[in-house]
Amino acid sequence: AKENNSRELVYYTDDLYLQNIRQAQLREAIKKSIRNHFEGFELFYQPIVHSEEKICESAEALLRFHTPELGMVSPMDFIPILETSKDIISVGAWVIEKAMETVKEWQTINPDFKQIHVNVSTIQFHVPGFKKFVFDTLKKYSLPGSALVLELTESCRVKSTEEFAELFEEFKRHGVMTALDDFGTGYASLIVLCDIPVDILKLDLQLTQNFVKHPQHRAILKLVADLCKNGKIRLCAEGVETEESLSLMKNAGADLIQGYFFSKPLPEAEFRKKYIEMT
Ligand code: C2E
Ligand code: CA
Ligand code: CA
Ligand code: CA
Repeated sequence: AKENNSRELVYYTDDLYLQNIRQAQLREAIKKSIRNHFEGFELFYQPIVHSEEKICESAEALLRFHTPELGMVSPMDFIPILETSKDIISVGAWVIEKAMETVKEWQTINPDFKQIHVNVSTIQFHVPGFKKFVFDTLKKYSLPGSALVLELTESCRVKSTEEFAELFEEFKRHGVMTALDDFGTGYASLIVLCDIPVDILKLDLQLTQNFVKHPQHRAILKLVADLCKNGKIRLCAEGVETEESLSLMKNAGADLIQGYFFSKPLPEAEFRKKYIEMT
């Protein structure tokens, strides 16, 4: 057993070593990419579907990073790097700009398409010029505020909620919508919901899938759905992969559905073909 243990230890250190090398390579590749006009960054789009009408008027933009050497890297791996280095500020601005350019193109093809959801790190919200940047970008593409939904992760809430509440009120006045992402994963979910005026609540995919597996947990689902209804907040269920999950969420009162059941995140051209041009 001892022998086994020591062997495992060797593998573990080896693995850590490789992990560190890969991390360093990734950091280097990201720096290079940013200097190179964000080459290697790409937005994929996942449809968000009405639970009743089954139509898709919005999509979530999900960031991808790939290089010939590293292949496709998961945002779970590179977003933390971008946040530590603060590069999330410039990359996040690129994401918003790209998403708005795209929604403009899509709306000229299909005026019924409404909006793109963009993930925003708390670091970005704290940049003094962030609000102005958002409004300037909308103006640049002659878009209404409603073309953009800002997704905020509850776990990222560090500064005072008061400050956030003010900022979000201002976005609201301009028609920009806000969503509370990953609801159910942070400890302060309900408190945040009372303090920050959001339009959409996104039920975390783990929670969604949990409700499918454990019927005894569904009282919580009802509670969340009632909370949304009373607060005039639209409920969006993430991680809907099966018919069963779809009907459970729909019956519980979810207004919007996102997940592999409808589609994985797609490259822009594929999303356009399938959901905008509908050919
Ligand atoms: P998120 O915002 O919660 O995005 C949803 C994630 O769930 C996406 O992973 C999506 O591909 C995945 N997903 C969607 N439907 C299903 C499903 O039915 N089943 C399963 N198992 N997964 C599903 P992805 O694209 O890997 O993104 C991971 C996270 O990275 C995002 O989680 C978000 O927190 C972050 N992220 C992505 N793009 C950006 C960005 O532009 N800026 C920032 N700050 N964060 C981003
Ligand atoms: Ca999100
Ligand atoms: Ca989420
Ligand atoms: Ca997440």
